[in-house]
Amino acid sequence: MKITGIRTMTVDVPLEEPVITAIHDIRSIGYVLVFVDTDADVTGEGHLFSLPAKHLAPLEAMTAVLGQSLVGEDAHRVEGIWHRLWTEVNFVGHKGVPLFALSALDMALWDARGKALGQPVHRLLGSCRDAVPAYHSGGLWLSRSRDELVAEAKTFLKQGFRAMKMRLGKPRWQEDVERAEAVRDAVGPDIRLMADANQGLDVRHALRLGRALEPVNLDWFEEPVPAYDVAGHAALAAALDTPIATGETEYTRYGFRPLIEAKAADVLMPDLGRVGGVTEFMRVGHMAQAWDLPVSPHLYSEPSLQLCGALQNCDLLEYMPWSARLFREEIEFEDGQARIPERPGLGFSLDLDALERYRVGPAAESAAKPAPKRPARRAAAKKDEPPKTEAKAKPKPRAAPKAGAKANAKAAPGPAPEPAPKPVRRQRQPGKTPWYLRGEAESA
Ligand SMILES: [Mg+2]
Repeated sequence: MKITGIRTMTVDVPLEEPVITAIHDIRSIGYVLVFVDTDADVTGEGHLFSLPAKHLAPLEAMTAVLGQSLVGEDAHRVEGIWHRLWTEVNFVGHKGVPLFALSALDMALWDARGKALGQPVHRLLGSCRDAVPAYHSGGLWLSRSRDELVAEAKTFLKQGFRAMKMRLGKPRWQEDVERAEAVRDAVGPDIRLMADANQGLDVRHALRLGRALEPVNLDWFEEPVPAYDVAGHAALAAALDTPIATGETEYTRYGFRPLIEAKAADVLMPDLGRVGGVTEFMRVGHMAQAWDLPVSPHLYSEPSLQLCGALQNCDLLEYMPWSARLFREEIEFEDGQARIPERPGLGFSLDLDALERYRVGPAAESAAKPAPKRPARRAAAKKDEPPKTEAKAKPKPRAAPKAGAKANAKAAPGPAPEPAPKPVRRQRQPGKTPWYLRGEAESA
């Protein structure tokens, strides 16, 4: 199954209500959608997301650049392709933008594999379950009043959820405790309740809060301190009975290994769009098995279902409704459990008709096209060693190509060319702001 092209598209999807956490104020979510076309009549789909959307431009560019080198490759060779891209990004780094791009491409490759073979990805990876418990993560925000928290928790119960996550980070840690106690009282002792501080605390604050929260019986205390503070996480994990969860901002197994070695996490939370795609998520999941640690995916609810269906120690899904608008299909729930889709590939197809109105940049098809060949004139010139002055005497004017004009038309010998037109300098039109700066400019 040969890869015939890679396409990308960026969308900025507004949220129905702003999301406020200890460190976020989120109004919309930007996505880079990735399409891997093949000669097997299937297209693999992947995506990555960015908060805020103005960072999409470099993410899309890196995805297109990496994708360009995949044209002609066998799409089934996900392991080989992963390592090729890993080597390719060595200089720019094995974290950040390159890993987002690698993750989205890997996701799309697995989707293509599944579609070509007529199998859901979890079966290609070695299936272990039909459904997975899901916790509702799309609420119980820091911005809610205590009464609103209680009402929302009861709504989640009515919807069938048996697990949910609230946020921590009020200036007075006693208020966090009161809010957590209120939610626990509302849902009862048998519901799994997690709490996420979104990296907003320091170790001393987190320790006092964590100790006071022990009677609330949280399933986990998530990212109590900044993600890079591995020692801080380890100190809290040692001091508290409540399990510590972290890892959503880590990249690859090389990011998770130090967390495990430092005993900094009781629950690992790989993010499919950051960790290195399906391929690397599986590696982290298997590595965690060697320490008997559970993993629970961070966001990417829809595609992560396939990982929950393939890893025995990945037995709790974060359900966040944000990305539901991306897809034609919805997650199916039954008694608080999310069904692992049996549809081929990742099991969710991008709803391009609905997404068109959220489009923020031009679809980049550059990656699908092979790099233009050098003009024949130059090749011949090298061979026959013509006088170098000739090339210098006729600088190629930079002008916008006419529609239908052949890129290499100048290579053909013919009558003397007309005087070169004056180069037209592209000027930014007044009021025309690049799409990736538009939100900032408008809000300024
Ligand atoms: Mg979190």
